[in-house]
Amino acid sequence: MTYPLVDIGVNLTSSAFDSDRDTVVSDARLNGVTTLILTGSSVQDSQSAATLADQYPGCYSTAGIHPHHASEFNSDSIDQLRQLTLVPQVKAIGETGLDFNRNYSTPGEQVDAFEAQLMLACELNLPLFLHQRDAHKEFYALLKHYRDRFPDGVAHCFTDSKQALHAYLDLDLHIGITGWICDERRGMELRKLVRDIPLNRLMLETDAPYLLPRTIKPRPKPGRNEPGFLPFVLSEVARCMDRTEQEIAEASTANARKFFRL
Ligand SMILES: [Zn+2]
Repeated sequence: MTYPLVDIGVNLTSSAFDSDRDTVVSDARLNGVTTLILTGSSVQDSQSAATLADQYPGCYSTAGIHPHHASEFNSDSIDQLRQLTLVPQVKAIGETGLDFNRNYSTPGEQVDAFEAQLMLACELNLPLFLHQRDAHKEFYALLKHYRDRFPDGVAHCFTDSKQALHAYLDLDLHIGITGWICDERRGMELRKLVRDIPLNRLMLETDAPYLLPRTIKPRPKPGRNEPGFLPFVLSEVARCMDRTEQEIAEASTANARKFFRL
């Protein structure tokens, strides 16, 4: 049984898809993943994501600067992102946020780029596609400060603590769940925590080509994740929440359509 699903996080611009992008998108459709939100992670990458979204039916994109790329943020960046949001398939600001795990950009650069993008989302009344790793305190403080001025936000690829989850839910954010939950080692805490997510806050994503669900047997050859594997995330979320796949599919799809205004 397949259900119409929205994959809210696909890095379709990745070179991992260069040789067979058309097949990846059509395989997703065959598996019921009818709608893909393509993640933009820098000005140039957001441009590429918007171009791909225009090329494939059922695809939309985000425009933003990932914390890893925050060092590229300059005085022109916000204008460039604002221009990109004029393209009809661009539906959200992001991926933006804070990642103090690897600090590919300094924390100061990350905070500046994140705050500017928060203000842009407020100005344009667009939802935010948010990334946070090892930076909950600073991330939460900034979001809280702007929260009554932007319409919606999703903590994408949520893998944090119970306390962080409830802090985001209290800010009325949505929560994006990836194949992290399919990992019987790293995903143990998340498997318990998903039960705390109200059905009207839940969305599903693959974060492909990353985070191949470990519940896929046998493991696909290249070890690459694809949007067509989203039903494996659906299955695990349904099992952990003690709900049917249909319930989770219907709720997460309705949430994503409303969130991204599709
Ligand atoms: Zn991310």
